[in-house]
Amino acid sequence: MSIFTKIISGEIKGTIIHQDDLCAVLVDIQPQAPKHFLVVPKKEIVSVHHASEADKNLLGHLLWAAAEVARKLGFAEDGYRLVINTGRDGGQTVPHIHVHLMGGRPMTWPPG
Ligand code: 5GP
Repeated sequence: MSIFTKIISGEIKGTIIHQDDLCAVLVDIQPQAPKHFLVVPKKEIVSVHHASEADKNLLGHLLWAAAEVARKLGFAEDGYRLVINTGRDGGQTVPHIHVHLMGGRPMTWPPG
């Protein structure tokens, strides 16, 4: 079971700011921006590389949920960044798909 699944199930502590039937949105434990959340599917899929065709709607739902959270928290108009690190070279450290939702400051490009 992934660390995110354990947070969603209440087995370990974490702050969940939004939930629906398909995903949960957690506060990142090591925020890299004033607003830093993780949109996590309740279905435990290792990465987008591991998602199947049957998961296409779920993947879209994660982006929609991120946009909804940014709107509800009032920083959507200022803009934000969505990041999905994938695999070793992508910098993924937790093997359970998650969309980083980061805002509250201007972002730079390119990322490291
Ligand atoms: P990745 O490197 O896989 O793209 O992102 C993993 C993210 O999960 C990191 O931003 C890291 O701070 C966050 N994270 C790791 N462990 C925990 C935890 O136990 N709780 C929460 N809320 N976030 C975590």
